[in-house]
Amino acid sequence: MGLENSKTLTLAEWKSRAAELKIETGLFINGTYTDAKSGARFDSINPATGKIVASVSCGDEDDIDRAVASAKSAWKEGSWRFMDPRDRMAVLIQLAELIGENSEELALLECLDMGKPITDVLTIDLPEVIVSFRYFAECIDKISGSVTNTAADALHMILKEPLGIVGAISAWNYPMLMAVWKVAPALAAGNCVVLKPSERAPLSCLKLAELFISAGGPPGVFNVVNGMGHVAGKALALHPDVAKISFTGSTATGKLIMTYAGQSNLKRVALETGGKSPQIFMSDLEDLDKAVDYAIGGIFDNAGQVCNAGSRLLVHRDIQDAFIRKFIEKSKRAYQPGDPLNPQTTLGPLVTKAHQQDVLDKIARGVAEGAELLIGGHIPEGMEQGTYVQPALFNNADNRMSISREEVFGPVATIIPFQSEEEAIAIANDSDFGLAASVWTRDLNRAHRMVKAVEAGVLWVNCFGDGDMTQPFGGYKQSGNTRDKSIECLLGYTQSKSAWINLGS
Ligand code: NAD
Repeated sequence: MGLENSKTLTLAEWKSRAAELKIETGLFINGTYTDAKSGARFDSINPATGKIVASVSCGDEDDIDRAVASAKSAWKEGSWRFMDPRDRMAVLIQLAELIGENSEELALLECLDMGKPITDVLTIDLPEVIVSFRYFAECIDKISGSVTNTAADALHMILKEPLGIVGAISAWNYPMLMAVWKVAPALAAGNCVVLKPSERAPLSCLKLAELFISAGGPPGVFNVVNGMGHVAGKALALHPDVAKISFTGSTATGKLIMTYAGQSNLKRVALETGGKSPQIFMSDLEDLDKAVDYAIGGIFDNAGQVCNAGSRLLVHRDIQDAFIRKFIEKSKRAYQPGDPLNPQTTLGPLVTKAHQQDVLDKIARGVAEGAELLIGGHIPEGMEQGTYVQPALFNNADNRMSISREEVFGPVATIIPFQSEEEAIAIANDSDFGLAASVWTRDLNRAHRMVKAVEAGVLWVNCFGDGDMTQPFGGYKQSGNTRDKSIECLLGYTQSKSAWINLGS
């Protein structure tokens, strides 16, 4: 069933399909499913129900060794990196097709494994996964080197070559998409890949690797090893045969990945880490209703489990009361917790019980530090079987409070009022993070000034979260050191070779 047809299914139909779902749980190495060498397994828990979805093979150092060896032999054999670029393109385009054809199964896996509302998977995650493979596939024969302007007795060519084996370590908040933002450009550039998905959402990426083989990809080129971060992830980041680690996750783990690279083979390290993004609402903004709609989506989509979540709402004091009134009224309508399998549900649970507790603790700290909790912040009534948190809005917070400084990674918005443009910029930049930001104003000059002044990798003016694959995505400061999406990202999976050819006698 294709993506569009999947969108027509009812809750009853999704439930019956979930009951019949056959779930692959092995590691995917050298084109086939295999158990972890130790036989170890861990449970995938559905956060909406607390029930076990599947028992999944838990890889360790030995399994990472097996996967890297398989990638290494595929790399040496060369059928992927030396494949005619248009043929390599055809494999990835076919993979995008197969993802569409298998969207029902992939959507179910994502929904059951991490609790994401099924409609979000079908309208956000899967379309973006498909477009990512298409975009990077289409780039394959556009990667070119150059010939430089040398003296007549020499020819100097700069070639763009793949790196070798890329280790990808990904987060659980968009389990397929965060992995694909690494895997697709790495494969497009001709590398072999070993992916270690998050242990909190291990299922969907296995299916992607299987579909890569069905699309005509050679065995060993794309391997998936599930397992614990501090074991399998660490082994991958320390592995001497891995040329680059591309990581998405917390800033704390990103720092560890850098040390592992230094302790091993000085592999390249690309980090996409946390955020505390400001959405800045100037008093001269054009349309308060539209601004508030974006503000709400910017923090409550995916239950706030978004790296660039606009969790700091910097609101000009002149519009603060009107902003709050609209925010409360609209957010109550827009985000109601429910069964993620129900196509009407807009707010799913948080990914685990431990994460739910962490979010509740951070809310309690915000209250203790003196921020005014206007709505939410509790477990919604009747939803106690899952790990839900009712979307929360704090008012009159100070930028020094923990609720303004630490990433919550849950549905928690914090209003920090300001009086002037300079003050707004100072507050926005007073953060360890710099992933994204938005500015709402009708003054074009102000918009230009603020785009330049705000320290963030992604800046939105009069919107939040908009964009396409041409947009480099990544952060300033401790939000990371690289960019996903875009040609810039693709080039990060290549290296330059300077070939100087002596033409003299
Ligand atoms: P996490 O750091 O706990 O885990 C991320 C990945 O790292 C997982 O696969 C995990 O198994 C692995 N890992 C954990 N410890 C490791 C270790 N010692 N060595 C190697 N690998 C290890 O993060 P998370 O909870 O999965 O994800 C949430 C975080 O990800 C948030 O901070 C969020 O902002 C960030 N994130 C960033 C982006 C971005 O593009 N900047 C996108 C999504 C999520």
